[in-house]
Amino acid sequence: MDARPLLRSAEIPAKGGGWIAVDRGECVRIIDVEGAQIADTFAVARGDLSEHLSARHTRAAARRIFPKLGEAFFSDRMRPMLTFVADTSPGAHDMLWMSCNRQLYRQLGASDDHANCQDNFLAAAADAGWRPERTPDPVNFFQNTCVREDGRLVTERALSRPGDYVALRAELDVILVVTACAFDLAPINGDRCTGLRLEVDAGSVDPRPS
Ligand SMILES: [Zn+2]
Repeated sequence: MDARPLLRSAEIPAKGGGWIAVDRGECVRIIDVEGAQIADTFAVARGDLSEHLSARHTRAAARRIFPKLGEAFFSDRMRPMLTFVADTSPGAHDMLWMSCNRQLYRQLGASDDHANCQDNFLAAAADAGWRPERTPDPVNFFQNTCVREDGRLVTERALSRPGDYVALRAELDVILVVTACAFDLAPINGDRCTGLRLEVDAGSVDPRPS
């Protein structure tokens, strides 16, 4: 993958969001530049902005609660949107949690103006021309969610190291929106929140037939 020329890139600032266009067949890398940083990831079909990546549809389609290398992420119309083609991290990723949001921080006693992934998502999506009525359930790359035997959900410190990345092949023309999670009330993003980088290359594997 590294030998292929870079087509486009975008920087996601710490506690911020951003977006990048990915054409069908291209690959996008989400790079955890400094390590231990969660990447809330959203996608919308450029051909129809009412079709978006859905963690719950992916869980049902894959019969899994966490992402698996080689499998697809599905839209809310049960179509494969992105395929998980590479992962250099230890492999902990989440598709159970919603994005952090104003109400969550209020419940946890933080100030009302605490940076949050939902507002950052909505701002970045709007910048890309996507204005969803509701915030979709994201896929949270590098989020280290653990399910305890008694059913409790616990998020531990992210395991990803500096420079670790996941790569996704687009099965449709999409806009990918990513937020660098702003949660700093527990060390789930390591000792401090940091930024992410998005890189798109031409990909090497034919996309699925449409
Ligand atoms: Zn967040």
